[in-house]
Amino acid sequence: MKEIALPFDPVLRSHEVEHQVMSGNRRKYYRFRATGFYGGIVTADAVGCSFLCAYCWNYRRNLSPEKEGSFFSPDEVADKLLFLARRSGLNQMRISGAEPILGEDSFGHLIEVLRLLAEKAPGSRFILETNGLILGQSRKFARSLSEFKNLMVRVCLKATDREKFQLITGASRDYFFQPIQALLFLKEYGVDFWPALTADLFGNEEINRFRTFLLANSVRAELELEELIVYPFVEENLKSREIKFGRRQ
Ligand code: SF4
Repeated sequence: MKEIALPFDPVLRSHEVEHQVMSGNRRKYYRFRATGFYGGIVTADAVGCSFLCAYCWNYRRNLSPEKEGSFFSPDEVADKLLFLARRSGLNQMRISGAEPILGEDSFGHLIEVLRLLAEKAPGSRFILETNGLILGQSRKFARSLSEFKNLMVRVCLKATDREKFQLITGASRDYFFQPIQALLFLKEYGVDFWPALTADLFGNEEINRFRTFLLANSVRAELELEELIVYPFVEENLKSREIKFGRRQ
């Protein structure tokens, strides 16, 4: 498998990866499907992320996104999602497996997909799953997202402190606060959002301290505690980065 030096600068990585997964306004996806998450949701699985989380279920593809998937225009993505939604009787949609916002180009692609879906299926809901890194870099992204009333943003926070953030994501600890800044920008522009955390990597005390920290930073939304799915390769990645897992008291 490809080696990557840790920790890396995730903003630089975002821009490099964006270059690999965007061509004009087309982005790389490798699968379109209906899944049972969120009570049933149609999903476009993309490649390319600013982080390289030890537990990422799409780790191999996100390590080498240049080798994976094919380019799809916003029209093609929206049409595939709408086709699957009609066929499966679902009205929720998302992009998964990757970070939708890597920079201006991928954000432009996402906005175009959102506009098409809002136009063609006004009663549908789009759940934007993001790691919040680039979203927390400038308030202009949250401002643009506030145009969509059918949008909910799930910001996957990676850790309760800077050291674990670096260990888990592979990205420099200096960027720990940026996803939390994303929550503040979303709040400022009235975008519906909620933060999530993979609970099995932290003790109860760490989680409670983190909740207090979010509250102290005016984030009042409920913190979703997500369960870790430990595939064999995830277990190996966690061990190689010396990350302890299993919910601790
Ligand atoms: S942020 Fe999400 S998509 Fe990106 S590496 Fe981490 S788990 Fe995978």
